[in-house]
Formats: sequence, structure tokens, C-alpha cells
Amino acid sequence: MQNVSDIIKWYKKNFRDLPWRTTNDAYKIWLAEVILQQTQIVQGLDYYYKFVAEYPDIASLANADEETVLKLWQGLGYYSRARNMLKTARLIVDEYHGIFPSNKQILMSLPGIGDYTSSAILSFSFNLPYPALDGNVFRVLSRYFNIEEPIDKPQTRKIFQDILQAMIEQADPRIFNNAMMELGAIVCKPNQPDCENCPLSVDCQARILNKINLLPVKSKKIQKRTRFFNYLFIKHKEEFFIRKRIEKDIWVNLFELPLIETDAKAGAQTLSIKVYEKYPELTNLNMIKQVSLKHILTHQVLEIQFWRIDLPDESIFTPEACLRVDADSCTKYALPVPINKFLLSL
Ligand code: SF4
Repeated sequence: MQNVSDIIKWYKKNFRDLPWRTTNDAYKIWLAEVILQQTQIVQGLDYYYKFVAEYPDIASLANADEETVLKLWQGLGYYSRARNMLKTARLIVDEYHGIFPSNKQILMSLPGIGDYTSSAILSFSFNLPYPALDGNVFRVLSRYFNIEEPIDKPQTRKIFQDILQAMIEQADPRIFNNAMMELGAIVCKPNQPDCENCPLSVDCQARILNKINLLPVKSKKIQKRTRFFNYLFIKHKEEFFIRKRIEKDIWVNLFELPLIETDAKAGAQTLSIKVYEKYPELTNLNMIKQVSLKHILTHQVLEIQFWRIDLPDESIFTPEACLRVDADSCTKYALPVPINKFLLSL
């Protein structure tokens, strides 16, 4: 296909020089891929350097404890990626002598590694012809070929995979996958693609049919659930309390202030009833709302309110399962972004 050589020619002239593109070390490629899921390159780059500096190889990561890894991950979100990354590092060290397997099925059996990440490792590290189909590549192909099937349906994936497989077999797999992703990231962008500088513009069907803004098609919008979090900043002299989230929910194993979740946005009166039900020791103490903020996750919107409660000096109260920390000592714990923001604002 002429278009394959055009894409590769374009890539060789225009690619961004990124550290994971100049290595074939499967560990670093995998690390970059995990960091870059749901993350912009500019932000991901900092985390990539931090992780490579702290854990230069898979053995050092496998030896790390989860709290330290989560702390280094703080701010990137989607913390299950970090937990899975650690599990996979340990499995590779324990079961594969610290060497990444070059087998798709084995890779896909490891925590956090799916079809896309396994193909990225196999092509970028081992130069094997496995097409890496990410959101950027879906966009380029759906526009170029005018594919109207919704990209979020599993059966559509097969259509794209077959097209890409035929393309990758005519090229150097490592360069081809990089080129397709780069084209989607910097030229065939979701809004206002730069068709004038696109190597596919001459016969791109979306451009010819004036359908660029209609492609790719998605069948469903993600329904977001709104939740109402009330964090209690319970202050005793210079100290306050945090607890580890152990429930099967968002932010597992991260630390937060004592939380009361309500069905709707709570005013001071409603919340004080809930607080006193949970902590009768706090009866008669003033609760002052400090900050409200909205935090948006993929499937949830969190309406968060922070409430301050000052304990008298003589108090010996400690909320159940909580740790006592101060502004310095709490920085060693991995905190969700909104909690960290709140504490930094004090
Ligand atoms: S011509 Fe435009 S719409 Fe078509 S693939 Fe290139 S950038 Fe995307």
C-alpha cells in the first residue's frame, strides 16, 4: 500500500524525540506505555523520568513497596495502573527471570497488560508485527477509510485490527506503530486536524466527503455518577488525621481525611448530624466549611467539601483506623489529587 510508505516517510521527518522511542528495553517501553495510558505526553514524560531514576530496571521496581510506588505515582490518577505495574514487575522477576516474555498470550495474562500494551511491547521492543491500536490510530483509520462502525464495540476492533495487520506486514513494525500513533497525536487530532500536512490527505475519505468531525463514531457516552464527599479536617494542635482507603472503590490504598459520603450536597446542619452519628465525641464542636471543589474521574464526578473541626487541646480523640500526622509527615503518604490540593492550600 502506497499509504504505508507515505506514513513512514512522514514519520521519519516529523517524529518527536521521546526517550521510550530510542530504546528497545522492554521494561522502559512497558513503563512508558503504562504511564501514558490516559495521560498527556508532557505530563507523562516527568513521571517516566522519575520512575526510571528511582527504578532503573524491573528488579528494582519489583523490590519496591506499594506505598512508595503509589507516592511516586501521586497526581497521575488511575492508581490501579500503578498497583498492576508493581504486580507485573514482581511476576516477571519471579516467574520469567526478570525478562519480558515476547509472547502475546503470556504478556496479556499479566496484570494491567491488554491487547494494546502487549502489541506495543512486542513491536517496540522485539520489532514483531503486532499492530498497536490506540485511540489515535482508531481516529486516523476511521477517517482515512470512512469507517462508520462505532469504535467502542468489540466487533469493530477486529475490522481495524485486520486493516492494520495488512499494513504493518509491509513495514518495520516498530516504526510503523510509532508512525500511526504519532500521526494521530500531532496531525489527525480530534479537533481541527492538520490535513494540509497529512501524508494521507490526497485520498482521505473523511476529508473528501467532508466528514472529519463525524468520525470516529462512538456508540455510547460514558454515564458519570455524581458522588458527594465530605472530608473532615479534624485538627488537634498542629496535627490532623488521615486513613488508608481499603474499600473496593476508587483510590484503593491511598490516604485521605476521614470521609462522610452523602446522597446529595450536604449543608452544615445535615452534615453535623452525620458527623455526630459517626463520631459522638465530636458533639458540640463547630464545623466550618473550608473549600468546595469538583473532581472529575472517567466514570464519576466527585463534589467534594472540606470541613474543619478544631479539637480542644486536652482532647484524646482519634477517629477509628486513622493515623495522626502533621503537614510534614503527611507528605510521605500517597494522597489523591484533591486531598493533596487541599492540604497544600492550607
Ligand atoms: S487528511 Fe485530515 S482527517 Fe484525513 S487522516 Fe489526514 S489529518 Fe486525518
